[in-house]
Amino acid sequence: MINYDYIMVRFGELSTKGKNKIDFIKTLGNNIKNALKDFNNVGIDIRRDHIYVQLNGEDYLPILTRLQDVSGIHALSLVYKCSKEIDDVKASALELIKQEKGKTFKVKVKRSDKQYSIHSEEMTRIIAGHILRNTDNLTVDVHNPDILLSVDMRQEACYIFSSTYEGAGGYPLGVGGKSMHMLSGGIDSPVAAYLLMKRGVMVECIHFASPPYTQQGVIYKLEDLLHKLNRYQPRIRLHIIPFTKIQEAIYDNVDESYCITLMRRMMFRLADRLAHRRKCPVISTGESVGQVASQTLASMNVINAVTNMPVIRPCATMDKLDIIKISEKIDTYEISIRPYEDCCTIFTPLAPKTMPHLDEVIEFEKKFDYESLIQEALNNVEVKFISEDDEEIL
Ligand code: ATP
Ligand code: MG
Repeated sequence: MINYDYIMVRFGELSTKGKNKIDFIKTLGNNIKNALKDFNNVGIDIRRDHIYVQLNGEDYLPILTRLQDVSGIHALSLVYKCSKEIDDVKASALELIKQEKGKTFKVKVKRSDKQYSIHSEEMTRIIAGHILRNTDNLTVDVHNPDILLSVDMRQEACYIFSSTYEGAGGYPLGVGGKSMHMLSGGIDSPVAAYLLMKRGVMVECIHFASPPYTQQGVIYKLEDLLHKLNRYQPRIRLHIIPFTKIQEAIYDNVDESYCITLMRRMMFRLADRLAHRRKCPVISTGESVGQVASQTLASMNVINAVTNMPVIRPCATMDKLDIIKISEKIDTYEISIRPYEDCCTIFTPLAPKTMPHLDEVIEFEKKFDYESLIQEALNNVEVKFISEDDEEIL
């Protein structure tokens, strides 16, 4: 087995220009450093077009696996470093290609060191010839090879790489700003948070708790969910809003079929206020069109009317099964399906409105002083930080 020296990180979608690109690369470099902080020996070398993770003897596999979760990385390649002696290059190229699966290959030589005595085309012939002579079932295919063996002759050494692994894609976390994310204990909202993170957006979470109707177990559940998401965002702020009084006021004053609509309008009012306070320019949710009564387009319209902020709904058009697939991938599914009562499930009326009328909603809202209840809830927010480093909650 060959011991790889580096993992080369490629940016892909990040190929923007100018100052943005510099900021992106800096942010990505920091995110990578943070993701690999438990690997004491690795070094990170940030260049204009790539980031090199120097393995310094560490096993590549756990590092590669960790890097595959870092957003903003398009692809990852394992790199072997050898001397520029032609015999050394030939032998290394052969060793590397023997570890690959495939029937056809292509050698691609880049001569970054313009002083190097052998030209690229000749190098390509020498290396490919050596591989053909010393393997049994490999042939050259220059158009669509199974294995692309890249050889980069630089000033200081020769770098060879073949295996390329897919990265998470998207943008580096942090370049997209921050969203106030409504987190329930369900399946959808953690998935929505993950999709935002992948897009470079950090989240702060807001949760509406209605004790004693909802239990402390829900909060543990949220903490466990956020611990899973810490893999994508190492530190997450969770705001827990006391929602009981608002919910009771609604049920005392509002026709049953309108309770969910009003409750959700109150949630969005609170999210809007907190988002302003926390300097988040948008709100986000795990809503999915048509899933339940409050998620018909007509309901969304009436509910959304309480805020001017954009509301991002990453799961909006996804099928439940596809949302579940993602939740399994990010390991939140098993936590999400734990049976705990949510404030939405507790007061669920038998026949919630799927076509609420805004004028009726406004009439109901005149019947109680929700503004002071909202103020009171905001004055009593409980804040928790969920981070990778506090293991005891796990
Ligand atoms: P989820 O699986 O995310 O719970 P859901 O399909 O159960 O979603 P709803 O319960 O109608 O749908 O909630 C829709 C969205 O509203 C959730 O994805 C979440 O963003 C937000 N939400 C619902 N309940 C709460 C809550 N108690 N606290 C914070 N946000 C909530
Ligand atoms: Mg729910």
